[in-house]
Amino acid sequence: MHKIKVDDKEFEIFLENDNLNKRIRLLGIQINLDYEGKCPLFIGVLNGSFLFMADLIKEIDVPCEVAFMRVASYEGTSSSGKVKELIGLPDDIEGRDIIIVEDIVDTGLTINHIIKTLKEKNPASVRVSSLLVKPSALQYDVEELAYVGFEIPNEFVVGYGLDYNGLGRNLNDIYRATEG
Ligand code: 5GP
Repeated sequence: MHKIKVDDKEFEIFLENDNLNKRIRLLGIQINLDYEGKCPLFIGVLNGSFLFMADLIKEIDVPCEVAFMRVASYEGTSSSGKVKELIGLPDDIEGRDIIIVEDIVDTGLTINHIIKTLKEKNPASVRVSSLLVKPSALQYDVEELAYVGFEIPNEFVVGYGLDYNGLGRNLNDIYRATEG
């Protein structure tokens, strides 16, 4: 088994780049069919989605636009605790067909918040493409989750845009944390 160390943690190979690309090609085909005659706006959630976005967008052959935004979370003063703020959201999304591009959906809290905030700006439609989803960790019903690359177990993964302590985003493949 191909093992690597990222910072202080050991990881083993999980999804190879070939495998990722094959799946992403299929997601592209599906999106092209679904958005025929439209001009979707892809919005990537930084930092994790940058490689997935780059590979996904190359498979899209309907006219489209690409933008990125980020979610900043900080401890709020309210009793609800964590406050999440969307930074760099494109201004004019009214009437647009939005496809949010995420690296991973874990509990679904982040993507739920992003969807809610985007919908306040009256887009024509909002769907989500996430490379990875951990179904057993999901705590929210995300009905907009239309284009999923891989459903994975509830394990910590790194590589292909995903980081551990800021490191490992450059890895070509996706690795999972080894036990212990
Ligand atoms: P959620 O709000 O869905 O619980 O968490 C989503 C965010 O948590 C992702 O955008 C990502 O930043 C982080 N995350 C969740 N699981 C993993 C994982 O296995 N690996 C990495 N690198 N980040 C993760």
